[in-house]
Amino acid sequence: MAYAYDDQNIFAKILRGEIPNDTVFESDHALAFRDISPAAPTHVLVIPKGPYVSMDHFTQEASEAEIVGFMRAIGEVCRLEGVSEDGFRAISNAGRNGVQEVPHLHVHIIGGRPLGRMLA
Ligand code: C5P
Repeated sequence: MAYAYDDQNIFAKILRGEIPNDTVFESDHALAFRDISPAAPTHVLVIPKGPYVSMDHFTQEASEAEIVGFMRAIGEVCRLEGVSEDGFRAISNAGRNGVQEVPHLHVHIIGGRPLGRMLA
């Protein structure tokens, strides 16, 4: 599947500094910020800085440095937020069936309370 990236999506605007965000962590390849509508005491979104729609798109087209940088950012956020020991959930919704609201790849890091069993 070929992916078309919409550079007017809200996370693209956040990356360009056009919309404020509550940054938790930033590196060369990733930005992490608090979700405006948190589902748990910790709810941080980690996004790559490049123009990728989904995990599928990202892993097809991103460089190894971008992929490593993004994955390391997820670990950094877990440690900064103090959820590594008690655990967390990492979710990336994609496309229509995944009910993705913002078409820029993001991983939700959710924790800070027991989350219950959830696969769908
Ligand atoms: O995975 P999905 O695309 O459905 O989630 C998008 C997330 O982005 C939502 O949890 C929403 O609260 C969050 N959001 C945000 N800041 C915005 C717009 C959306 O944190 N300005």
